[in-house]
Amino acid sequence: MKKFIVLILFTLSVSLSAQTLLDIDERALQAIDGERCLEHVQNLTDYTLEGRGTGAQGYCYAAKYVSERFLDAGLMPPPGTDSTHYQIFYVSRNFIDQRCAFAIEYDKDHWQYFKFYDDYLPFASSAPAHTTKPLVFAGYGIVSPDSQWNDYERIDVTDKIVIALDGTPQMDSLDFGRSGRSRNKVKHAENAGAAGFIHLCQKPIGGISTKRTIPAIALRQCILDSLFKTRDITAQSIIDSIKTLKAPVAVPLANRAQITINSHYVDSLQTMNVVGLLTGQDADLKDEYIIVGAHLDHVGKLGDVIFPGANDNASGSAVITHLAEVFTRHAERPKRSILFIAFSGEEAGLLGAEYYTDHPLLPIEKSRAMINLDMVGAGDQGFMLVGGHSYPAFAELYQGYAEKLGFMEVKRRWMSKNSDHWHFYDKGIPSLFMYCMGGPPTYHSPNDTYDTLDVETLEQVARLNYMVIHHLANCDEITFDYVENESE
Ligand SMILES: [Zn+2]
Repeated sequence: MKKFIVLILFTLSVSLSAQTLLDIDERALQAIDGERCLEHVQNLTDYTLEGRGTGAQGYCYAAKYVSERFLDAGLMPPPGTDSTHYQIFYVSRNFIDQRCAFAIEYDKDHWQYFKFYDDYLPFASSAPAHTTKPLVFAGYGIVSPDSQWNDYERIDVTDKIVIALDGTPQMDSLDFGRSGRSRNKVKHAENAGAAGFIHLCQKPIGGISTKRTIPAIALRQCILDSLFKTRDITAQSIIDSIKTLKAPVAVPLANRAQITINSHYVDSLQTMNVVGLLTGQDADLKDEYIIVGAHLDHVGKLGDVIFPGANDNASGSAVITHLAEVFTRHAERPKRSILFIAFSGEEAGLLGAEYYTDHPLLPIEKSRAMINLDMVGAGDQGFMLVGGHSYPAFAELYQGYAEKLGFMEVKRRWMSKNSDHWHFYDKGIPSLFMYCMGGPPTYHSPNDTYDTLDVETLEQVARLNYMVIHHLANCDEITFDYVENESE
């Protein structure tokens, strides 16, 4: 019955918002230019910016670039920021430096060295190390009292390097919750007294961390088979037997591993959100505002390898920068104000959004909606709105304008803590996070370069968001009811 009521409300909100769509703002839409977005992406992924890692110099160059575009466009620094539009805050983080190495001993004194990135990557949290220790295979490396599973139960890993499978055992009867996360696994290895941790994966992906752990690396899973060769065991056969036995499988190995990681930890590093305000023109409504955000930071650099982060998230940063240009130069000043924010620290745990919502520059209760763009530079399989199910009338605005403009389908998910919108939602602001479906498989890889992005997609994202923001900034009243996800 409840579902039925939700359905009626949903249908009602569809028809109301569909009726109230504004006319297409042709002048502004014509001024929106995918090439200009791509130019911003190209500048934000220049090698001198070194992947815009939070707290690193390259990120500061990126912040300066966006701040200059905000200034050029005529956005005001909101109260509490200076003319740079910077909202400064401090973070601590671990840096992975150059000259890391990883090798396995196959026969006595016969070492095979593996390739940085192609074969392995240090965890962003990894402590420095130069160590040679015996390897021990510890199944999935999970300790989960809730599901009565302990991969360390029958094996001593003290002063050894633990090697563990990715994910969790595939068993319908057990729910491993978050224990499959690599950061939890490294903690369990540390608690068990291990000297190091190796997490197997299909392909290592880059990250950034404010934490420090025991020396840890991600290694291609296929390398595990070579360790078992003489025993006719493979990674797959172990996965299968864990599934059949419904119990942990752990094996001491004959091999030793050598891990060399150079890393350093810095307690307090300055970083900044870049915030620009377009003040509305309506005497009654200008104190209300719409927040348009995107994270400007990315993974930065691990060792010598730069992660340019073109799609993640130079794309979203470029689109909001371009939207600031279009709203100030090619459109009538809206009734409500619009606050543009390029966030720092997203990749390290949504830090910039959290700092902003804890230290808002405008009264948080006057913000009417928040839109977050993250990974919007490629893909032709539709726009996804995270939080679309949670705020159906908000999502319907997107749907309505996408249809009006003849764009791709708009899809919806429930609210999730997977990007910066989360902290705004957490403060009670109707918030949506848009990304594009079906882009190239470059997530957190050095191949996330600007030439893999698509001008047409960037232009559609900018146009669709322009119309939705224009609508929100000019309509009489904004009421987005929240729908609870009942399956949770
Ligand atoms: Zn992102």
